[in-house]
This record gives sequence, C-alpha cells and structure tokens, in this order.
Amino acid sequence: MLTGEATRLAGSIHSLALMPLQSMVQAQSGLWEDGNLLTAWFESLNRHFMGSMLASYIDFSMLGWLLFFFTLLVYVISKDQWLRLRGELQHFALFDSLTNLPNRRLFEDRIQQAIKSTRRREGKFALIMADLDRFKQINDTLGHHAGDNLLTQVGMRLRNIVRGADTVARLGGDEFAFIIQDIEDYAGVEYVTDRIIQAIDEPVTIEGLPFSMGISMGIVVYPDHGEDVETLLRRADISLYRSKERRNCYTFYDKDSDDYNRKNIELQNELRQAIKQGELEVYYQPKVDCGSHHIKGLEALARWPHPEQGMISPAVFIPLAKKNGLIKDLTMLMLQKSIEQISDLYHQGIEVALSVNITEENLEDTNFPDEVAYILKRFGFPPRCLELEITEDVIIENIQNATLVTEKLHGLGIKISIDDFGTGNSSISYLKKLPIHTLKIDLSFIREMNRNPDDAAIVKTTILLSKSLGLSVVAEGVEDELTLQKLNDWGCDLAQGFYVCKPVPNDTLVDWIKNSDWKPQYRTDQTFPPQQALQQKTPLNTEPSAGTETSAAPEPEATNPPSLKVVRNQQK
Ligand SMILES: [Mg+2]
Repeated sequence: MLTGEATRLAGSIHSLALMPLQSMVQAQSGLWEDGNLLTAWFESLNRHFMGSMLASYIDFSMLGWLLFFFTLLVYVISKDQWLRLRGELQHFALFDSLTNLPNRRLFEDRIQQAIKSTRRREGKFALIMADLDRFKQINDTLGHHAGDNLLTQVGMRLRNIVRGADTVARLGGDEFAFIIQDIEDYAGVEYVTDRIIQAIDEPVTIEGLPFSMGISMGIVVYPDHGEDVETLLRRADISLYRSKERRNCYTFYDKDSDDYNRKNIELQNELRQAIKQGELEVYYQPKVDCGSHHIKGLEALARWPHPEQGMISPAVFIPLAKKNGLIKDLTMLMLQKSIEQISDLYHQGIEVALSVNITEENLEDTNFPDEVAYILKRFGFPPRCLELEITEDVIIENIQNATLVTEKLHGLGIKISIDDFGTGNSSISYLKKLPIHTLKIDLSFIREMNRNPDDAAIVKTTILLSKSLGLSVVAEGVEDELTLQKLNDWGCDLAQGFYVCKPVPNDTLVDWIKNSDWKPQYRTDQTFPPQQALQQKTPLNTEPSAGTETSAAPEPEATNPPSLKVVRNQQK
C-alpha cells in the first residue's frame, strides 16, 4: 500500500506510461470523430497533469509497479555511485595524484589548523618550503616520465622522514613543503632539515642510472616569523629564494632577506622594462692573434646603464635575468644590437668575428638557430663571422638539446665556442660529439700560469688538446706581455684580457680600432681592398644598406690603413 508523495509519483508515472496506449485505443474505437488525434492527445495529457484522471489509476497495474521499483533501484545505485565519486573528487582536490601527498590547498588548510592548535598550546611549529636542485636538468634529459618517477621516489623518502603529526606536501613541480609540529627550538628544525638533505643526497635510480640532486629550503617558525598563513608562506618563500642562490642548504627567515627581496623585485621590474625598451648597451672586448697581433674578434658584453644607480654590474643583472625568465629576451637583444653594430663595421671593410654569449634557454629552443639566421640576413652579416659562446656546464647539463641546436647552428655556418673551459666538472667527451670550433681557457688558469706550474701545465695541455682536435683556442684573462708571449710560444691562437683592452662601448669602438696598438684585420674580398677600409669615420649606429657586402663601402680618403704603435703598456 502506497501513500502520500510516493503514491502520487507512482500514479503519475503509471498514467503517463499508459497515456499513448489509451489514446490509440480511443482513436481506434472512433472516439475522435473529428480525426484530430494530436489535439485530443494533448487534452488528455493536460487532464492527467491537472489530476482530473488520477483517481482512475490509483489502483496500480503491474506495469506501474515495475516502473516504480525500477526508478527506486536507479536512485539507490546512483546515490552510491555519486557518494563514491564525490569521495574520489574530494581526494583529487586535496591530494597530489603523483605522490599522493597533500596538495597546496590541503597544505594551507593544515597550516591554518596548526596555527589554531599551536596558539591554544602556546607552542611553536615550523613551516619549511623546499625546492629540488637540478631536477629540471634530469627532467629535460630523461623526459617527463622519468621526472615523474623521480618525484614519486622523492615523495616517499620525504614522507618517511616526518612524524605522523607532521605534514609533507607537494605544492607543484619539484616544490615540496613541510609542517613540523611542536618544536621546542630551532635546533629541532635543523635536525629535520639535515635529515631531509641526507635523504635527497642519496642518489635516485632512474632507468638503471643513479642521479643525485640537492634540495634547498626556506624556514619560518610560528609565531616568531608570522602569525597568519599568508605571512608565513610569503616569508618561507623569501628564505627559500635565498637558499636557492647557494643550493642544497636551508635558510631561516630574517628581516634583512625580506628587504633584500623587496629591492630585488624592484630591480627585476626595472630590468624587465630596460630589456623591453632595448636600453641595455653592448660593450665589446677585443680578442687578438697571439702571434700577428691582429684584432680577430670582439666579444659582446651586456651593460645596464641604470637611470639612478649608474652602470649596474652584469654580475648582478645576469643572475637576476636568469632567475626571472628574462635571459632569453636579454640574449636576443644582445644578438640583435651587436649584429647590427658589428655588421656596420664589416660593411666598412673590417673582418672581425663577433662573439655573443648564449645560455641554456637558447639551447632548449629549437627555433633559436632560425631566429639568429634571420637577424644575420637582416643586417647582411656573414654567419662565419658569428661565434656563440656557451659555458661548459650548460653544454654538459643539456647535452641532448645542445647537440640538436649546435648542429643546426653549425649547419648555418655559425661557430660554437666553449666558454670558461676547464671549470666544468665532467668528462670532455662532448668535444668530439658536438660541432665545436673554439675553446676559451678560463681566466683563472691564465692569471696564475706565471706563478703556478700546475696552472701553466693545464694551459699548455689544453692548447695541445685543442690543436689535436683541430680546434681554435683563446686565452681569457691575459693581463701582461709575458703571458701573451708564453701563450704564443705554446701555440695559443687568440688572447683576450685587460692587457689587450678592457671592454669598449660601441660609441668609441671605431676610434679604438683606428688608434689601437693592435692591427685591424681587413676584408680581403676583391670589393674591399685594404686601403678602403675604415678611412671614413662613419657612426656605427647608422642603418645598414640593403644587407649587401659592397654597398656600404665608404669613399677612400687615404691610401694606407692606420699606422700602428708598438707600445702596449696599458694595464686596464
Ligand atoms: Mg664569454
């Protein structure tokens, strides 16, 4: 026996189900004499909904009961499925699917809970923000699948370090975070962070190969460094930022680092604008032939004339650009400006190789060679006169991308030079795998080679190695004549350093070349006999004409190239 809402519901379902059948029977029996079946059916439907005929079907047929139980069954099953789905969705919303650790949302909720409970007990807890070192290189080298495998293993290790009441969460990428409850003093936190460093220090095996990483951490303590979630997270991030500069270490929050960070953010925004507006300048540091003393190369170096702080050191703004994703734009700006400026020199008859420093971001970008080719074509600068300098560490850490991009650059006729050679800590087998043209011996060896026999041996051996592999070799950091003479005796090709010349701004580059103690190298193609070169002083920032090698030739005023002095005693 059914009553109330259930009875009315079942009755309506029953009525609706039978209605078309009933209409058909009525139509067959000639009830609808006017033949308008559709109109009559709608009238019938209306009566059913208005309840006028409900009473006639209160006595349920078998079909009505079947429909009712079917509806009830569907409802029960759906509810069960929905509850299960809702549970899964809640887990998905609060836990990281890769490591099964709490995600950022749940972590922030746990901080809130920790603040409440710790305030009641008048105790302390520590919040640690952590970031893996070198994860990106492993991820890039072995692929995302291997990277995920690594993060899963790291997640398990970190979970085993903390106590049950503590929290370890994955906030995204290679960022993890911890809440260490009920600490008595900072030494207690240091005990945990030391264990975290040890756990990550242990190599992780991926595809049968061991990989070692590091972990950098920023720490805040409640209530010493903040009393709400936002402040604690922000200050932990600032401390992490400081740790990332040194890597594989931890830093407790202090106010000085906060001020430092605020100034850094201001400078970072100004740098972004300066790059966007093309305000960075190019200075050129010459390279000369150790034997003939010809000026063979110019290395483009970025300089930032800040409107208030004066010239900001590259040691400050290059790392800042790297950390804030600006380095690619900075490199492209340097390439564009320097190729434009030195192509002008080339069109005036000077043969000189332009070197530009590039970074790992360029090696990761397979479009980079095409972009460089476009700039070269635009300014009519020959690819053989462009050399891209990459540090040894960048090559090693990005060997797969480096192979792809350097081969493409080599195919365009652009040369590749290894910068700071000898300072990397890995095998030199890449020298025979990649299309490398030049090795630049790091200045730390050159500066000490007259005093330290070990450094002299390294320099001599590197020159021999380069020659054996058919590579050109450049010595950086040449600061006196004796060093230059020795390098020449040992077979070194080019020298760069303050003895040759300190970096020269573009505005005075032509004057320097004309008046320098070192000899300019003139173009030898027929359209540019030496006597035509550089005789007319033309501003270098003039627009190049149509990109042809001959069209920008100035009219000769004198028949001989600039005379050269012999004295070279400027220690700059
Ligand atoms: Mg360099």
